[in-house]
Amino acid sequence: MYYGYYDPTYILILVGAVISMIASARVKSAFQKYSRTGAMNGLTGAQVAQRLLASKGIYDVGVAPVAGSLTDHYDPSTRTVNLSEPVYGSTSLSAIAVAAHECGHAMQHAEGYAPLAFRSSLVPVANFGGTLSWPLVLVGLFLNGNISNILIHAGIILFCTVLLFQIVTLPVEFNASSRALAQLEGNGLLASGELSGAKTVLRAAALTYVAGVAASLLQLLRLLAIANRRRR
Ligand SMILES: [Zn+2]
Repeated sequence: MYYGYYDPTYILILVGAVISMIASARVKSAFQKYSRTGAMNGLTGAQVAQRLLASKGIYDVGVAPVAGSLTDHYDPSTRTVNLSEPVYGSTSLSAIAVAAHECGHAMQHAEGYAPLAFRSSLVPVANFGGTLSWPLVLVGLFLNGNISNILIHAGIILFCTVLLFQIVTLPVEFNASSRALAQLEGNGLLASGELSGAKTVLRAAALTYVAGVAASLLQLLRLLAIANRRRR
């Protein structure tokens, strides 16, 4: 039993953390850059959201402000596009891009887009798996014999539910962004030069989800390395 300080697989976690940090720094800087650029339409994030929803005939979805920054999300249980304060009342390209992206999720929900439904069904499973996976592995490492192997492998399987959730999130996010850009263009809300700014913001945001998958893959590799080392 020597799990601990000199564990060389820890480097995998560090690499994952660095990838995630770079991705989140990039989304913040892209968001800030285009926060300083106002769109010619003069509409706020909230107004753009209302227009896009109406243009798709979606009248049962509300638009509400939420505290924090980059906390924007669509809540399917209350059918609400929640926009962070810097997005809700701002007329910047960043605000419009993010508001349109969240409307993309509302559109997915309205038409029963399958990956979104699958993702929602995975939420409780992934929460359960994410909470229990590492504790099970750690307890397994402290024990010996069969029970140890069972716990470690159960932990790894539970961790895979988190990874699966993150992988299913990718098409949902990419699709919401492509809907957002198509709607902004189709409704004449952004000029072509403005669209490329919105695209930059949304692409940076999408990369944070890719980084999340990469970080989890590295964690999975580490778990497998730990399990494998125990077997010998
Ligand atoms: Zn999204």
